[in-house]
Amino acid sequence: MTGAPASLWCPLCLLPSGWAESVLLHLDDSGTIRRIETGVPAAGHTQLPGPVIPGMPNLHSHAFQRAMAGLTERGGGTGRSDFWSWRQTMYSFVGRLSPEQVEAIAAQLYVEMLKAGYTGVAEFHYLHNPPDGGRYSDVAELARRVAAGADAAGIRLTVLPVLYREGGFGGAPLASAQQRFRLEIDEWAAVIAALAGASPTQTAGAALHSLRAVLPADMADALAAYDALCPEGPVHIHIAEQEREVAECLAWSGLRPVEWLLDGVPVDGRWTLVHATHMTAEETRSAAASYAVAGLCPTTEANLGDGVFALPEWLAAKGAFGIGSDSNVSLDPREELRWLEYAQRLVLKRRLVAAEALPGPAKFKAPPLSLGASLWQGAADGGARAMGQPCGTLAEGRVADLLVLDPDHPALAAHGPETLLDAWVFTNAGPALREVRVGGRRVVENGRHPGEDTIGARYRSVMTELIQDL
Ligand SMILES: [Zn+2]
Repeated sequence: MTGAPASLWCPLCLLPSGWAESVLLHLDDSGTIRRIETGVPAAGHTQLPGPVIPGMPNLHSHAFQRAMAGLTERGGGTGRSDFWSWRQTMYSFVGRLSPEQVEAIAAQLYVEMLKAGYTGVAEFHYLHNPPDGGRYSDVAELARRVAAGADAAGIRLTVLPVLYREGGFGGAPLASAQQRFRLEIDEWAAVIAALAGASPTQTAGAALHSLRAVLPADMADALAAYDALCPEGPVHIHIAEQEREVAECLAWSGLRPVEWLLDGVPVDGRWTLVHATHMTAEETRSAAASYAVAGLCPTTEANLGDGVFALPEWLAAKGAFGIGSDSNVSLDPREELRWLEYAQRLVLKRRLVAAEALPGPAKFKAPPLSLGASLWQGAADGGARAMGQPCGTLAEGRVADLLVLDPDHPALAAHGPETLLDAWVFTNAGPALREVRVGGRRVVENGRHPGEDTIGARYRSVMTELIQDL
């Protein structure tokens, strides 16, 4: 990998104000953009070989689940296959993973993410303990393994240690497989403290697994402990993903999950509500007004049969959103955005659904962006907030996490700025990226990551071990 140059010249660049030509980004040593000039000649600067857009922050990932992709698509068991039967398979898989395997899987996953255009990831990390539910000598062992995988790949990381203490609403006992997830609140805070501010590209935030897994009193204690550590850091929670979860929450509290959360907890712009699939119109309006980011994971939500997010209503309420690869069955931000829009088209039987509601979250509306560009910039903006890092926008004070599109790719041939990202997002012709940069440093060039052979070889041997054990 190369170091961060002092300046980057872009023939065409997507800025907060829209597309601009001959753009010069002045960077400092940490890869932060200090000054932007437009209409500048290229001579004397590092020239980027195509149109430049912000890299996509991936706001929701469970790294180890990358190794499960393709292992949960066989039928033939007893009963119907749904989220809950998938979860049982996940639990039996999670019981086998060693720290070395966790690191190898994370490194492979993050290389694949970079090659597809994700430049950062918020890792919702709930695998903390050895399989017997004891403790590693360093309680942050597995979080550090994820961070080491991110380091090897060169992706920006916000690791979100997850508080996971109960097996169901109201404090049901944990299943044995869930013992790998459970920490005391002070241990959980110690994992966050161990990784917060670790490097210019790595930090930590907080995650509460779900209302199923954290009792209200624990939630209050955990948030107080986290606020003392990171008063402005991000907070993530899985919420309202499944109809059964809504029914169980109603039975437990008389309230629906999003309703309960907004009623009982000071949700604000630090929060990311992951999924939020099942909301009433009132919950949608209230959650959007809280300024929380909706963490949407369309390919996983489709894979698990969760349901369809109320995107038009959310955007009409000016709700912020970002995208996540979640179970990592797909590692392509463009596929997430296509599914986000296409699920709406299938349900509503019309086209350009998000375009009707945008610019809702987009402050980038002068001149108006195309659907592809609006979706991309909206999701990048929300994703950056969910990561709690200054990425997602190419602006002064933000980091130079960016993608250079391949202007010679047939999918982009003859497209000008008005339709360039429509051609790129709404086709499926490979990444079509010349470069991927994180903090100004080039991590992928012409589709290749410099560590991919070594990292890939390690991953293949881990997969051989894991599949032999099945
Ligand atoms: Zn998840």
